[in-house]
Amino acid sequence: MRVVTRFAPSPTGMLHIGGARTALFNYLFARRHGGKFLLRIEDTDRERSTPEATAAILDAMEWLGLTADEPPVMQSAQAERHAAVAHEMIRRGTAFRCYVTAEELQARRDLGEQKRAAARQEGLSDAEREALRAEADALLAPFRSPWRSGGEPPAPDAPFTVRLRAPEAGSRTLEDGVQGTITIDASEIDDLVMLRADGTPTYMLAVVVDDHDMGVTHVIRGDDHLRNTFRQVPIYEAMGWDVPQFAHVPMIHGQDGAKLSKRHGALSTTAYRDMGYLPEAMKAYLLRLGWSQGDQEIFTEAEAIAAFDISGINKAPARLDLDKLAAVNAHFIRAADEDRLFGLLVPFLEASGALTPEDTTRIRNALPTLKERGSTLIELAAAFEFLRVRRPLPLGKGAVKALSDEGKARLAAIRREFDTLQDWSAAGISAAIAAYCAATGQSMGQIGPALRAALTGGLPAPDLAPVMEWLGREETLARIGDQLAG
Ligand code: GLU
Repeated sequence: MRVVTRFAPSPTGMLHIGGARTALFNYLFARRHGGKFLLRIEDTDRERSTPEATAAILDAMEWLGLTADEPPVMQSAQAERHAAVAHEMIRRGTAFRCYVTAEELQARRDLGEQKRAAARQEGLSDAEREALRAEADALLAPFRSPWRSGGEPPAPDAPFTVRLRAPEAGSRTLEDGVQGTITIDASEIDDLVMLRADGTPTYMLAVVVDDHDMGVTHVIRGDDHLRNTFRQVPIYEAMGWDVPQFAHVPMIHGQDGAKLSKRHGALSTTAYRDMGYLPEAMKAYLLRLGWSQGDQEIFTEAEAIAAFDISGINKAPARLDLDKLAAVNAHFIRAADEDRLFGLLVPFLEASGALTPEDTTRIRNALPTLKERGSTLIELAAAFEFLRVRRPLPLGKGAVKALSDEGKARLAAIRREFDTLQDWSAAGISAAIAAYCAATGQSMGQIGPALRAALTGGLPAPDLAPVMEWLGREETLARIGDQLAG
């Protein structure tokens, strides 16, 4: 059997990271087994679905590199097929026309609530209370329609919904890849609506028909769908279709254990791109968020494809840990190809002004060293600021202090060494400074602060010798000159 998985988002909003993780698991599982990974946009809810949300989901999937093997299926385009299946089920006796109206259903629920409230009143005998409770339970139980065994319509043109004839009695068992064996009573399954009174299919029907038609063998999705699975399986059975393997993945929670919300960093997947995370870091982090193998923390995509299995998915909800995400991101920043990394950095660098050709050269040269200095692209971009700041440099407080008269006198003296230095490389500069210190009996502690202040204005920067190499002789001397002239 060739494995086919799918990711089936509803385009009613952004792709949040829980959805991205679901997509990733499906993608990895398909790749692991040499199968197919498909994408279906579940836009049956016409009112809440928007083309913007679809575009945002596709953008996020592309950013993460979760490429589907076929063009996305739009669920709404299959509506006729969904309806045809519902009618086929009527023919088979596994679905029926139901003439109960929405108003009647509401009245039934209201009555159930009334009975439930009545059962809580004081002054009832035990028997009366029990009777009321039983009536309430029956009214509020999963709906079984009075039309499930047929009957004459109330009027020839009476509107009807098409409902599943839910399994009669007994127990229903699901072997879930993550949750294990789960058994419920058949009475917990309702005669669910498959076609509305206007003939349009419901999500509950559409998802089953589409998964069947797309040949889906494994459904990996959030555990918020676990109950739905018990309602969907009877549709497969009614049509005599193979039931896929299900794996329901626990939700992502915040650090405090509460359900993930904006407050915890539950942002859209692409918001993480804007915050300067790399897609491979996001994937590696999301993989470990809810799945593990041994104690390996960081997986490359190739390693993840080789290792991913459903049995490694944790049963307990995962907790989003933004510090850990940052650490994983720092790892992948360091591991990234430098040309690519520079390309990724450009928009972040340009947020503080257009790059000049000199900026580009200096940053490219400094990148191998400075890529250690940030756990996001935003932080990393800030680490290059000292190379880009325009003359005359604004001085921070510490820099002003370092450029006292004494500091300037030292700066003036050492500048002469730089004027004549032949080898303008970090090693050459370093050797020249060391020789100068030895010759004049000074320490780096005496020369360094003024030099650093003149070259960076007090912005964070690494060792001075590489800083001077990246700046180049001309800019270095000009920055020193500005301070001596000032
Ligand atoms: N469209 C559903 C959702 O976004 C997913 C359904 C499924 O994966 O079966 O929650």
